[in-house]
Amino acid sequence: MTTLSASSRLNKTVRQHYMSLPQGGKCQVTYIWISKNGEDLRGKTRTLETEPKSIDEIPEWNFCTAHRFSQVQMSYSEMFLIPVCMFRDPFTLDPNKLVLCEVLNNDRLPAETNHRMGCKKVMDQVQEHQIWFGMEQEYTLLGMDKNPFGWPQWGFPAPQGHYHSGVGADKAIGRDIMECHYKACLYAGIKICGTNSETMPSQWEFQVGPCEGIEMGDQLWVARFLLHRVCEDFGVLATLDPKPVKGNWNGAGGHMNVSTKQMREEGGLQYIEQAIEKLSKRHKEHIKVYDPHGGQDNMRRLTGENETANINEFTAGVADRAVSIRIPLKVSNDKKGYFEDRRPAANCDPYLVTKAIASTCLLEDVEQVKDN
Ligand code: ADP
Ligand code: MN
Ligand code: MN
Ligand code: MN
Repeated sequence: MTTLSASSRLNKTVRQHYMSLPQGGKCQVTYIWISKNGEDLRGKTRTLETEPKSIDEIPEWNFCTAHRFSQVQMSYSEMFLIPVCMFRDPFTLDPNKLVLCEVLNNDRLPAETNHRMGCKKVMDQVQEHQIWFGMEQEYTLLGMDKNPFGWPQWGFPAPQGHYHSGVGADKAIGRDIMECHYKACLYAGIKICGTNSETMPSQWEFQVGPCEGIEMGDQLWVARFLLHRVCEDFGVLATLDPKPVKGNWNGAGGHMNVSTKQMREEGGLQYIEQAIEKLSKRHKEHIKVYDPHGGQDNMRRLTGENETANINEFTAGVADRAVSIRIPLKVSNDKKGYFEDRRPAANCDPYLVTKAIASTCLLEDVEQVKDN
């Protein structure tokens, strides 16, 4: 049996009484930021006197981090939280807000895992190209015991082949999470454009986009926050590990779909081909920033099996899913549209991925691909 969290078993009917109390015209604002491991999200909440009408009305905040030097020695430093975009809160409802923040060190320089600033710089430089991104976020549900949710305690579920977009209790495992996350995203104002169950049982996907420039990273990080938060209510975990189960089970990716204004216009395919040519020359640099561990995580996933290309090779093709870059069939037929970079791992930082793609495809300066 899958183990569910203790909190998820608290009495939710009692909770509902308090959640429906009026809140005296005040506004609860939850500040969200990326943790120092570059993967986890954090959030804390404060009361504002009135409902903020725009991001400019949300004050900076801070948090304290402790670094342990030894068993006894600790050093504390204060980090700044700089609000960058605001969403409606689907958990405590209107007028309450979720606010994504950038993190600055106490010298007000970007924190080590704040890749938004560098991404924004590139997106500003390439603004005239109106670059759009759409990301597919795959994830795997786990019980509190860290085993895939709903898998048998001993052995494995039936082999892959009938789970993708599957219907039926033996095919779609944990649909509640997907459906509730979808609604939460729509309520919040996330540009979620679809969902599906994946090839491995208990694996799901949602798609966000198209988003222009910096908006891709902002939206995706908040969509991830919502996912983890929805899972919390149900007492399960969502992992973005790119290969949660070894062997002949599909890994989890963060496919990034990309187009510029030129690619979307009549005859745009030639610009897609130019971009692929440029990407082919910087494969290694891209792989380095496509997961949080310099390619180590993706090494387990990009094996050349299970709908992936080998991590050491750059390949491209039409309607082919065992390649680094895929041109969808419709795009090839229409001779315009977008391309799909299938390499990013599910746990990638979308700011780093979109920054690398925009720099390689649209900037001459090689330096730009490096993080920060
Ligand atoms: P796949 O066939 O690879 O599973 P999905 O349907 O899951 O594709 O996802 C398609 C993604 O492509 C979505 O995130 C969508 O926002 C994005 N997308 C669609 N059109 C464009 C475009 N012109 N530019 C960039 N992204 C796009
Ligand atoms: Mn997809
Ligand atoms: Mn998928
Ligand atoms: Mn895809």
